[in-house]
Amino acid sequence: MAEVTLLGIAQDGGRPQPMCKKPCCANVGLDERAFPTSLGVKFEDSSTHLFDATRNLGDQLEIWQENLPSHVWLTHAHFGHVDGLGLFGRETIGAQGITLHVSQQMKQLIQNTPQWAIMLEQGVFTLEVYTTGDEISFGSETIIPLLVPHRDELSDMHAFIIKGKEKSLLYLSDHDTWEETLSLYNCKLVREWLDKFDIDTAFIDGTFWSYEELSERSQEEVPHPPVSQTIAHLGIRLPTDPEIYFIHLNHTNPLYDTSSLAYRTVESMGWKVGFQGMRVTL
Ligand SMILES: [Zn+2]
Ligand SMILES: [Zn+2]
Ligand SMILES: [Zn+2]
Repeated sequence: MAEVTLLGIAQDGGRPQPMCKKPCCANVGLDERAFPTSLGVKFEDSSTHLFDATRNLGDQLEIWQENLPSHVWLTHAHFGHVDGLGLFGRETIGAQGITLHVSQQMKQLIQNTPQWAIMLEQGVFTLEVYTTGDEISFGSETIIPLLVPHRDELSDMHAFIIKGKEKSLLYLSDHDTWEETLSLYNCKLVREWLDKFDIDTAFIDGTFWSYEELSERSQEEVPHPPVSQTIAHLGIRLPTDPEIYFIHLNHTNPLYDTSSLAYRTVESMGWKVGFQGMRVTL
């Protein structure tokens, strides 16, 4: 069996977001903090896999309660997903021999960024390149990267399927639009896409509840399908549907507030909001 732990549910900036003086962040207590999105997976062969390396790596390893991961997987180069990589190095953890799984584009970026390149020289990481659709096995369990369209100034973006012995989980932290993601896989419906990969549990990009959280300019700069649009597309959850948990929530997202209308709407339709520390067995 694979044990999955959700180690963060926030968008790259975390919650509270630095310098946000608005009500969304003004009174966030210590126990209400949300770390940027990350996932910990332990397979039956004892290998441990961290998806995304955030600046809250220390807190997240405590939530996970595992030793250092033997494998780290990067989805893409946006800051919240990679800014914890340095913590594995000499100045902090002093790790050795972690396998760092990256796309070809991400590999080039790492080799060309002096702070990261030196960690390769020092043996902190060994790079392993994946390509979309690869089935990478650990014992009888598997990880499958899937290319998804997302702003690619620095690198491309991959979601991951984690296949345990009995169930499969999708980790999709970021993507631009459902139209683009679905059409890349020749699908028209979200259900059809999840069904194609036999997904039982899906952690899906829920950055914004609606575009009202954004100015018009930022809608173009940071496109993510809003949760209100995703659940309108899905409708009410059917008994045969996978469980969907929204993650990667922006600090402005009303889904942080369990008493908000947005939160109650998601729950009443049978969908869920991810929470830090939640565990799923596959
Ligand atoms: Zn992100
Ligand atoms: Zn805020
Ligand atoms: Zn991103």
